[in-house]
Amino acid sequence: MNIPFNKPYMTGKELWYIAQAHANGHLAGDGSFTKQCSRWLEARTGAGKALLTHSCTAGLEMAAMLADLKPGDEVIMPSYTFVSTANAFVLRGAVPVFVDIRSDTLNIDERLIEAAITERTRAIVPVHYAGVGCEMDTIMDIARRHDLLVIEDAAQAVMASYKGRPLGGIGHMGALSFHETKNIISGEGGALLVNGPALAERAEIIREKGTNRSQFFRGQVDKYTWVDIGSSYLPGELIAAFLWAQMEEADNITRRRLGIWNMYHQWFAEAENAGKLRRPIVPAHCAHNAHMYYLLLPDLDRRTAFIDRLRKVGINCVFHYIPLHSAPAGQRLGRTHGDLKVTDEMSDRLVRLPLWLGLEDTQAEVIQQILASL
Ligand SMILES: *Cc1c(COP(=O)(O)O)cnc(C)c1O
Repeated sequence: MNIPFNKPYMTGKELWYIAQAHANGHLAGDGSFTKQCSRWLEARTGAGKALLTHSCTAGLEMAAMLADLKPGDEVIMPSYTFVSTANAFVLRGAVPVFVDIRSDTLNIDERLIEAAITERTRAIVPVHYAGVGCEMDTIMDIARRHDLLVIEDAAQAVMASYKGRPLGGIGHMGALSFHETKNIISGEGGALLVNGPALAERAEIIREKGTNRSQFFRGQVDKYTWVDIGSSYLPGELIAAFLWAQMEEADNITRRRLGIWNMYHQWFAEAENAGKLRRPIVPAHCAHNAHMYYLLLPDLDRRTAFIDRLRKVGINCVFHYIPLHSAPAGQRLGRTHGDLKVTDEMSDRLVRLPLWLGLEDTQAEVIQQILASL
């Protein structure tokens, strides 16, 4: 057997749409495919404005600029996340303040946020781990009472929702990822979702190198000039053309991923009852997108042995994250609020299983090998 951890899924229409973009002769950003993708995102997430970016990282960097952070300002986030969640804000001179996660969803523990707020706090960054929503009602309420921005790291959460509201579109801003390891892909790619006309107008400017080029093309201003800070965050049309093929299939992709996820979940119920592992927990009010299937093994040693045994039979499982508060840059650039016991524990115990479209054919065998390796 040779089962990779991830395998990018192509719908079959990507090259056809890229050929169309080529024939259209518009290869820079913001052509017709970009517009179609943005409109799809706005319709699917309810966000006031969706802007395609090179990556979720780029979307988070834009959000940090839009938040007008000053050096020393603080941003509350989990430590159990990808580096970009923190880096985007550190680039503006802000300090990430790491709080612990919940042991059920592994999302930021919303009960710990309020005590971490100081007079320098400007924003909260919930990360929807594995496409399972954070407790957004509580988080939005805290933000309202303390006048903070909520920037969702929804990198893993496309097509997932919290109490019926699509993730990424609930906070003031949200960033999605279309990296090839995510559900809907364009190789590298992402989007920033923005709620509120003032933020939306400025987001367009920041994305266009700090110019009002987008307003100029719409005929809203009569010259195109430098008006704000910014950079170049637009993907070209070839990327958007690829992405459009994926968006057309987004419902099917999600349904098939959920099928694989549910199969794993059923088969591991018995091992969970026997105390050998813990399965993911999805609260009833969260509709997830099967971004990830993970297991929590009893401890680090057993996880290491498990990954080794499976690698020997050709099944590639991976773990993540080294918590940001214990990474060298995190120690230098951030601070923690309280102890991060759950974060440290889960980081030692978690293992991610292969989950990609096409795995259906061999999933029964993969599951047998996994059960034998516990
Ligand atoms: C994948 C991921 C990112 C980064 O996405 P890119 O598109 O690769 O920049 C950020 N945050 C989380 C939680 C992620 O899983």
